[in-house]
Amino acid sequence: MRFSTQAIHAGQPPDPSTGAIMTPVYLSSTFVQEAPGRHKGYDYARTANPTRSALEANLAALEQGAWGLAFASGLAAESALLQSLSSGDHLVCGQDLYGGSYRLMTQVFARWGLATSFVDATSLDAVRAALRPNTKIVWLETPSNPLLTVCDIAAIAELAHAQGARLVVDNTFASPYLQQPLALGADIVVHSTTKYLGGHSDVIGGALVGRDEALYQELKFLQNAVGAVPGPLDCFLVLRGIKTLALRMRQHCENALQLAQHLAAHPEVRQLAYPGLASSPYHALASRQMRAFGGMISLELQGGVERNRRFTTQTRLFSLAESLGGVESLIGLPTVMTHASIPAAQRQQAGLPDALVRLSVGIEDIEDLIEDVDQAIAASR
Ligand SMILES: *Cc1c(COP(=O)(O)O)cnc(C)c1O
Repeated sequence: MRFSTQAIHAGQPPDPSTGAIMTPVYLSSTFVQEAPGRHKGYDYARTANPTRSALEANLAALEQGAWGLAFASGLAAESALLQSLSSGDHLVCGQDLYGGSYRLMTQVFARWGLATSFVDATSLDAVRAALRPNTKIVWLETPSNPLLTVCDIAAIAELAHAQGARLVVDNTFASPYLQQPLALGADIVVHSTTKYLGGHSDVIGGALVGRDEALYQELKFLQNAVGAVPGPLDCFLVLRGIKTLALRMRQHCENALQLAQHLAAHPEVRQLAYPGLASSPYHALASRQMRAFGGMISLELQGGVERNRRFTTQTRLFSLAESLGGVESLIGLPTVMTHASIPAAQRQQAGLPDALVRLSVGIEDIEDLIEDVDQAIAASR
């Protein structure tokens, strides 16, 4: 089966007891057993729930994995993964990453004895130099958040494996429609299903997907033992969102490319990042490892932080809000919103300017989006 067919059907045969075409929302905390310990694969819903199983099988198929595990949020998925490490282990992590991931590593797991080196993962030399004998995981976001840098998944997988480390890719920004890290050599894919997979800004969720069976057993154990599982209605909402993932992603990409081209020609735009522009330093690499370039753009207008801050309050269609990946367009100022949990010194080192504006380009009519951004640029002068 090809991608869109899998998105609609994988893991979701019609319900065997009723024929319901949509996977039912199994609101049941426990399941009746025929004899002690003998049941139909479900005993208690933290351990497994049929709606969650459908989502997990679907995500595994879309990422070309062998298994999927769903969690209550993207950060819950990341936590489970980090809980598989031990005190004294080391991570190498791309320095341009979601603020909450940075906070989890530096303020939670650092206290448990996990050390993290943050490096410019667009440089293979920087990744190689940061690897240590006790490095267990190399962690990438590509395209990254919010600078939209792109790093070479296949080359970094080789570096990590030569050191005996696993490669983890947070694929939230691309979605499996645009990029499949496992096929490029990664060992584990992380998702915030809150974003493009859910796609309608109505659910919080996360997932891990991989191929290795022993790793599955370890992470499945943690999913149950720690217990940060999603509810069945949340799983249903993500499953429903995924059915239109391919359609939505095509429109997100088309709109973002047109808006980026328009902004590239605007005399008041000082800096613009979108890997789909031929002028982007990441265009060639992104063309190799992605199907198209995604729906996220970051930019800076001339005139400093105040001007850019004003810009984020002048749009009418782009709503000023955290998050991304929904059908509606959003605008944000990462350093005071999504990335406020990264200290100023670290942001500076990662080259994240205070004036940077991030756009999540939705699937509205592109003419309306361009008109909105143009009027907001004018109104912010
Ligand atoms: C939102 C996000 C997360 C965290 O996911 P939650 O569902 O908010 O917990 C992790 N990584 C990236 C890239 C994100 O955008």
